[in-house]
Amino acid sequence: MGSLQDIPNTVRGGRLEGKNAIITGAAGGIGLETTVLFAREGAAVLMADISESALKRAVAKVHEILPKPPRLETIKCDVSKETDVEAMVAHLDSWGGVDIMFNNAGIMHADDADAIDTPEKIWDLTHNINVKGVWFGSKHAVLSMRKHGKTNGSIINTASVVALVGSATPQLAYTASKGAVMALTRELAIVHAKEGFRFNALCPAPLNTPLLQGWLGDDAAKRHRREIHFPSGRFGEAIEQAYAVLFLASDESSFVNGQDFIVDGGMTKAYVTAQ
Ligand code: NAD
Repeated sequence: MGSLQDIPNTVRGGRLEGKNAIITGAAGGIGLETTVLFAREGAAVLMADISESALKRAVAKVHEILPKPPRLETIKCDVSKETDVEAMVAHLDSWGGVDIMFNNAGIMHADDADAIDTPEKIWDLTHNINVKGVWFGSKHAVLSMRKHGKTNGSIINTASVVALVGSATPQLAYTASKGAVMALTRELAIVHAKEGFRFNALCPAPLNTPLLQGWLGDDAAKRHRREIHFPSGRFGEAIEQAYAVLFLASDESSFVNGQDFIVDGGMTKAYVTAQ
């Protein structure tokens, strides 16, 4: 499984035809692959990220793969700031409001550690982006859906498998933040179900994206410490998450709500893996 660039551009579906989507962290690994997939399936997409330069590079990549996406715009947004999130969502007012919100931006800081060594400022930074950012995104997506009279909407929040299994290589602030994402997503799913707004949490396993790979670098031992837990013996690819997000975003998943949607190659089901 490589990336979307390996898939012929002629394979274009309409699974998200007529839908307006926002993707946060759109310039990163999962966000970019999901942008391409959403656009290829007919959605109008607003790519949001804190880094304008990364957004520029990302949008150029999308155009390389899909020379004529349905509607593709970018916006700088720090998801930890409510005014930024409000402006990002308001950007879709002239499009007809939000149908799909992918609250995907997240960080795992290099100074994140165990209970003793995690600096408080790293805890706060991680929670401001990973948890408050998802709250703000969920809140303003619901407000937009109501404002535009939607009876059907999908919000997907990126958590992680580290919210399901403990890790002996600690990253306490990150782990706790992803547990919070899962918990708040579940509750929002129940609160808004009667309005037709679905909430699901995506739980990826460690992936070949800059977030993890940049951190692992060429430290073979550190890499092996993680790879050994995969039944398949490999990290996941961002595109494998993007396909799951596409399903959760589309009406094909109309009765899937409040789930911890695990995309991990079987990692969290494994005890001892094959040699
Ligand atoms: P990535 O680092 O490739 O992309 C993350 C993007 O978020 C970047 O483009 C970054 O600029 C952006 N971002 C950071 N802070 C932001 C902020 N305050 N506001 C808006 N944008 C911001 O990471 P990725 O692997 O694509 O991760 C996406 C999501 O998946 C994250 O929530 C991450 O925690 C989660 N996740 C990743 C892995 C993995 O191994 N890569 C595993 C499990 C979960």
